[in-house]
Amino acid sequence: MRVRAAVLADYGRLGLEELDLDDPGPGEVCVRLAAAGVCHSDYHVYTGDLPLPVPMVLGHEGAGRVQAVGPGVSALRPGDPVVLSWLPACGRCGPCLRGRPELCRVAALAGEHGTLPGGRTPFRRPSGEPVHQFSLTGAFAECTVVPEAGAVRLPEGADLASAALLSCGVLTGTGAVWRTAGVRPGESVAVFGAGGVGCSALQAARMVSAYPRIAVDVHPRRLEAAAACGATHLVLAGPGGPLERVLDLTGGEGVDAAFEAIGRPETIAQAFNATRPGGRAVVIGVAPPHLDVSLNAFAFPSQEKRLLGCWYGESSPARDIPALLRLQEAGALDVRSLLSRRYALDEVGEAFAAMLSGAVTRALIAFAS
Ligand SMILES: [Zn+2]
Ligand SMILES: [Zn+2]
Repeated sequence: MRVRAAVLADYGRLGLEELDLDDPGPGEVCVRLAAAGVCHSDYHVYTGDLPLPVPMVLGHEGAGRVQAVGPGVSALRPGDPVVLSWLPACGRCGPCLRGRPELCRVAALAGEHGTLPGGRTPFRRPSGEPVHQFSLTGAFAECTVVPEAGAVRLPEGADLASAALLSCGVLTGTGAVWRTAGVRPGESVAVFGAGGVGCSALQAARMVSAYPRIAVDVHPRRLEAAAACGATHLVLAGPGGPLERVLDLTGGEGVDAAFEAIGRPETIAQAFNATRPGGRAVVIGVAPPHLDVSLNAFAFPSQEKRLLGCWYGESSPARDIPALLRLQEAGALDVRSLLSRRYALDEVGEAFAAMLSGAVTRALIAFAS
């Protein structure tokens, strides 16, 4: 089948191309995309900060309908609405067996190679040259082929635009608060970076009645969005850094739990320094792999501070997406407020620019149906 896709030909060079897409193989499904969120991770690949193989179809946060299923697929049928998961766990490797599917080794290895598990990529240029697929998804394409575990069934009638955001930003932000940090009612939180992930973390903190819920960002517009997502205090980070202001808001003590949703060494250190003695800082933001963080070593034992990493919200999409949908139905989770603007498939560059300028919480690629 011939599909249009946003292809990263080389770092910094993104364009629309017509590609050949293989039929789904055993245990795979072909999904026709309806919507795909634009995430900072896509941009990190675009710049080469996340040095993945090119050419590559970007996009990893999508929803659509099953177009076709390969041999042996029993749980999905053509026409089913699904949301993509960029971390389809194998269920058999060490981390999967230890109950940590988000650390699945098979999926991680395929992600590094820009292929499906097994080493094949379903996309090819008309010349026959293989085109890699970002994070086992490649959602900036009219159709893609993913492992069966990479397509989570949605109820009929689900809004596919907001469902697209569930699969990366919302799963990650909510999971960081509920699972990694285990925030309890009455605990204070600060979220550094109020994009799609940060605003999801704020909503999760609101749902468990954390207070205060402090949002920190350099963009005033993002802070407005944070307020709509449950932030009770807004801190515009200036040249001197936001630390003093966060400490002021917590009686000089710092917060119980701080979340870094940007992926920069300076903001990771700020989040750590903004926690109270005995508190925990959670790093959600994806920094370029070569960067290190500098933290005060004495603070670990003397203040019992904990620094925690969080990948994909420690989530299991098949288990957690239905729960998020129920929370949406109950009005506790508001995904639509994260959705700022829609772009066409040939406007991914514009969506990146809007994301970097702080003009959007989450930009969405909407596919013509
Ligand atoms: Zn993402
Ligand atoms: Zn696994």
